[in-house]
Amino acid sequence: MASVFFRIIGFVIIQRNSMHFYFLRHLLFNLSLMPVLERNSTFVQNGVIPANSDILKSPIEYLKGVGPQRADLLKKELSIFTFNDLLNHFPHRHIDKTKVSDIGEINSSTDFIQVAGTLHNIAVIGMKSGRRLVATLQDKTGSLELAWFQGLSWIQKTLQPGQQYLVFGRAGFFQGHPQIVHPEMELLSAGKIDGKSFLEPIYPTTEKLRSKALGGRQIGKLTEVLMKLIAQRDVPENLPDEILSRLKLISRYKAFSQIHFPANMQEYEEAVKRLKFEELFMAQLRLARLRSQRHRFSHGVKFEKVGELFNVFYTKYLPFELTGAQKKVIKEIRRDTATGKQMNRLLQGDVGSGKTIVALITMLIAADNGYQSCLMAPTEVLAQQHHKNIIALLKDMPVEVGLLTGSTKTAQRKLIQKKLDDGSLHILIGTHAVIEKDVQFKNLGIGIVDEQHKFGVAQRAMLWEKNETSPHILVMTATPIPRTLAMTAYGDLDYSVIDEMPPGRQPITTVHRSERDRPKVMEFIKNEIGKGRQVYIIFPLIEESDKMEYENLMKGYENVKAWFPEPKYWISMVHGRQKADQKASNMHRFVTGDTHIMVSTTVIEVGVDVPNASVMIIESAEKFGLSQLHQLRGRVGRGADKSYCILLTGPNTGNDAKERMRIMTSTNNGFIIAEKDLEMRGPGEIEGTKQSGALNFKLASIVQDRPLLEVARKFAEDILNEDPELSSAENLRIKSYLQAIQGKTAWSRIS
Ligand code: ADP
Ligand code: MG
Repeated sequence: MASVFFRIIGFVIIQRNSMHFYFLRHLLFNLSLMPVLERNSTFVQNGVIPANSDILKSPIEYLKGVGPQRADLLKKELSIFTFNDLLNHFPHRHIDKTKVSDIGEINSSTDFIQVAGTLHNIAVIGMKSGRRLVATLQDKTGSLELAWFQGLSWIQKTLQPGQQYLVFGRAGFFQGHPQIVHPEMELLSAGKIDGKSFLEPIYPTTEKLRSKALGGRQIGKLTEVLMKLIAQRDVPENLPDEILSRLKLISRYKAFSQIHFPANMQEYEEAVKRLKFEELFMAQLRLARLRSQRHRFSHGVKFEKVGELFNVFYTKYLPFELTGAQKKVIKEIRRDTATGKQMNRLLQGDVGSGKTIVALITMLIAADNGYQSCLMAPTEVLAQQHHKNIIALLKDMPVEVGLLTGSTKTAQRKLIQKKLDDGSLHILIGTHAVIEKDVQFKNLGIGIVDEQHKFGVAQRAMLWEKNETSPHILVMTATPIPRTLAMTAYGDLDYSVIDEMPPGRQPITTVHRSERDRPKVMEFIKNEIGKGRQVYIIFPLIEESDKMEYENLMKGYENVKAWFPEPKYWISMVHGRQKADQKASNMHRFVTGDTHIMVSTTVIEVGVDVPNASVMIIESAEKFGLSQLHQLRGRVGRGADKSYCILLTGPNTGNDAKERMRIMTSTNNGFIIAEKDLEMRGPGEIEGTKQSGALNFKLASIVQDRPLLEVARKFAEDILNEDPELSSAENLRIKSYLQAIQGKTAWSRIS
């Protein structure tokens, strides 16, 4: 009869990423970008939800149980400065102690359990390391051994034999008997054997805090005190009633109380949903407002006309008909730059879709209007290539084009600066050397950033400062960005897509081969070279400084040489340790068809264009991520010949890597690959977004919460369409909330 008395519910873990980690990342990000953030407000504030009422603004030392010493640690370790910060320090899991189980139910699969019974047989037994305090806990269904290996004498003093205890811990078996080591003990008042009325929160914490009695559970004591101090009015609602009722969201106050102390999992989930929506919605709203304010109020240089240079180039020198997508994008840019507002546009186009010509035409329009422009590439090789291609395209046109990279000699630098000063240089192409402080333009009209994923938000912002009136910015990326990511990471930018490839391209055939197929693969290469084609062989050298990987590359090179001996075959090699001129000359030999094979690390990854190269071999392909593989594959398939990509994997290819190979062999579509990449790796790992503060959500994840993000976006857009200034009565809550969080970032409080 007693067996139905109590029932096991077990132990519920609500797993979340470590908040502590998020916090640190958030903080570091903000610190490193402080000046940028002050200058441009594209950063989305969604780290800490700021105080709305006086009590929540109280310094943390004033909370009962904190005091000055622990307060110092809370500030240093967890950035908890105020009551409000503590309110926003969410538990990463909860322990369910709402149920009390029977001792008789414990079996080998039992994990954490809560039981109640009478304490007997308290004794210290064993020798040396086996020395321990033991006791027996007895209920109507059986008995359980409790054991302590540390703090024996203190614990022994506190235990009261013959009394009823509520006991919680991880159950195991010792010599065939159930046992809990270092259990949590709670003395029960007579007759009352009852579980907790809420799930117990466990918080992210640090070793230092633990040593000051602020472990994951002890922080819960503080939040418990805090929750008793605050009421509905301290946490005012910031969403309109209509949204709350349409999406069935609980109130803000309720959400905070339930995320810390839910009665059950359902309550916890309600709280999380509400707070996630708020995060996503407010972020979308802010991005959309930034965008629309820029459209309405920003001041930009005006490209009034399409002039001589554009016309001559378009009618006489353009070597091919533009694709519909290229024309569409040029129109969008043309429209933006003619308004007198500053353009901030992201241009996405898969590798080989023809972004360079769009950049060139844009720069000609700038020159037609008397403005200079610059084109930034992520690597020296790529900058040189752009420079060479653009000069070739312009033929004898009266356009002055300069190249500035890290290896440009001082004399040349001075000459370029002189021409920039007097305005005779129209187009400057280079690496990020072009945005260094000492490079000054006479009148920069537009900055174009190629292959955005190598540039951070910070560099983008540095371009703004290059002219009195902020120049237009065009960011071009070949990394297809999943929609949700684009919405958050680049939500403040306008957005163009080249979704059409130049005609005459054949799809690339991609296959996955393992080491034992190597001889066949090498035969295949010989065949292709015999037909006059060229071949890339890529080795993974992720860190240029990594000695072992460097040695692997050299070994690989020797290997390739053994298969393809001179003088029948000639090989170029390019890697990051070479001097720029060496790199350039090796590259040049391949571009001109002097060499058959290019052995390279991923320095070749972006932008390089050799139409006659039709085979891409990727060695140790298992070591590359999806988007990188896709980028590399994009180096071939640029000419009219049938192209191949062969992914060679080694013996230690895990399941994830196999899945990546499967995806690569099944599609050429960069957007599908990007979505898969996001799913497999999560947003934090996607290049170019690491530094984007827009992704530092406390709770929401743009991968897992995609549907919610779409909903948030829709609501934000609808609201702004109807009420751009948020001046209606319904939107007052939103407006005052946004005003309250304006400029409040984690760093503004530490300084
Ligand atoms: P990406 O978008 O990867 O930067 P590129 O600008 O390097 O692509 O263009 C890839 C290749 O396609 C180049 O050789 C370029 O000359 C060619 N190309 C670009 N646009 C067209 C077009 N409309 N018709 C034919 N070829 C084109
Ligand atoms: Mg390119």
